[in-house]
Amino acid sequence: MTDFDGLVAVVTGGASGIGLATAELLSSRGAKVAALDINPDVKDPLLGIRTDVSDDESVQSAIAEVVEKFGRLDVVVNNAGIGAQGDVSANSDEEWNRVLNVNVVGMARVARAALPHLRNSPSAAIVNTCSIAAWAGLPQRVLYSASKGAVYGLTLAMAADHVREGIRVNAVAPGTADTPWVGRLLDSAPDPAAERAALEARQPHGRLVSADEVAGAIAYLASPLSGSTAGTILAVDGGMYGLRLRPK
Ligand code: NAD
Repeated sequence: MTDFDGLVAVVTGGASGIGLATAELLSSRGAKVAALDINPDVKDPLLGIRTDVSDDESVQSAIAEVVEKFGRLDVVVNNAGIGAQGDVSANSDEEWNRVLNVNVVGMARVARAALPHLRNSPSAAIVNTCSIAAWAGLPQRVLYSASKGAVYGLTLAMAADHVREGIRVNAVAPGTADTPWVGRLLDSAPDPAAERAALEARQPHGRLVSADEVAGAIAYLASPLSGSTAGTILAVDGGMYGLRLRPK
């Protein structure tokens, strides 16, 4: 793993789960890291900035604060995301707008605010958190899957637009990862332990993906070690995508 000495990173949704693991990993490798989160409760040396990615003013002010404090911006990890359940009849227009505004427009909004600063970086990278839901056909996850399908397209189109100016755009696509989000879903089941065991058994490698494993993939795509990689969606899913398996 390369180091991030002298580089500055923002991680949206950086106060929990995959985002927090990523913020801590980049920080441990020398980056100055700001966690942009609606609940920015993070420990030193991470800088927590209360940010709502669904609000343009909030995003612009957070990016301006990072650049004012650290003097530059090199890495954007677009990770904040929220869930939605049900078939196509389940979600109202308001819910569609709310979820797409966070999961899709939020990523475009953060990138838009960050781009002028990334153009000054010799080591600029954007990494979006997609999901295997983008292509797996998950049952009862229509809105969430559509949002991550949009992240897939956003990533490829942005990669094409910016690779020639030295800004690499890639994404990770986690399978089911052991984060507070998934913990909350399991806790809402009648028997959380049995539900967890069943979920683990459905994974190709027999366990959930760890947040640290996803963070490692994000750090790779954010680092100069992946300097020739753009427009790639790196699955971190125990092999589900690579093996062309459908979630059971
Ligand atoms: P998490 O709930 O543990 O963390 C998400 C963080 O995002 C929280 O700190 C939350 O406060 C923040 N957040 C939510 N809305 C926000 C907003 N409007 N503005 C700023 N911050 C906001 O979730 P996680 O499991 O770590 O998920 C992180 C990302 O990974 C999401 O994009 C999710 O879709 C994706 N993902 C997760 C899994 C999984 O199984 N956990 C699988 C595939 C993809």
